[in-house]
Amino acid sequence: MTAKNQGNSTARLIEVFSAIQGEGLNVGTRQIFIRFAFCDLRCWFCDSANTWNAPPNCRIERYPGLRDFEVHSNPVPLPMLLGWVARQNIPSIHDSISLTGGEPLLHAQFLAEFLPAVRSLTNLPIYLETGGHRPEQLEIVLPYLDSVGMDLKLPSVSGESHWTEHTKFLQLCSNTKLEVFVKIIVSQSTVPEELEQAALLIAQINDQIPVFLQPVTPLTPAQQFSSVAMVAPTPEQVLAWQVLMKGFVKYVRVIPQTHKMLNQM
Ligand code: SF4
Repeated sequence: MTAKNQGNSTARLIEVFSAIQGEGLNVGTRQIFIRFAFCDLRCWFCDSANTWNAPPNCRIERYPGLRDFEVHSNPVPLPMLLGWVARQNIPSIHDSISLTGGEPLLHAQFLAEFLPAVRSLTNLPIYLETGGHRPEQLEIVLPYLDSVGMDLKLPSVSGESHWTEHTKFLQLCSNTKLEVFVKIIVSQSTVPEELEQAALLIAQINDQIPVFLQPVTPLTPAQQFSSVAMVAPTPEQVLAWQVLMKGFVKYVRVIPQTHKMLNQM
């Protein structure tokens, strides 16, 4: 990719900031978050509905963790985003770069240009958070990733159903050497048969893939867009569901969104 071509590539962003990862295998680590605009799903539990469309502006943190945001207009040219990540990349602070959203894979062509450049600039590992339903776009960016957190959407909790896409997606990740884990949001209305189906899907690919059951964080009235109430599961439910899944896959951990406990972003 020439510098000229890079200059032509743009992406629509929500924000860039430095924070503590609150979910999954990287919980507790410090990351530079790049939150991309747009999502093609409408999960009932979504706490990021502000990402579904692209705002005219994005906010960019100047110094890691200070929340001293400056406002820039969308779309953002690739070299400009590289500059903002470089400014965040103070030596020894960050463990990795998190691509989040929204659905980052809706920007796959941009990422195929941006990721090699940001890696050579920062040498930081690159972690993708994704709905796990776009295997074709994953193939475009897979060579540039170090780890993937794949959401597996249970229809009874999310209102979304993507079993075939999840299978293809996880198989693609498993075919490579990158680190992959599966995150499943559970609520009081989770149907156990769907958890069993999810466990089977994962086990048929690789029963060593770590699974994180994440009890839903109830939404505030302002966040709630669906009429389906999001109620956290009971202690008895999560205890039973962990046992159920461990009948198929080896590693099943139950961890809520820890960044919300820490008042992180
Ligand atoms: S995939 Fe993520 S951003 Fe998109 S609707 Fe679901 S929870 Fe929200």
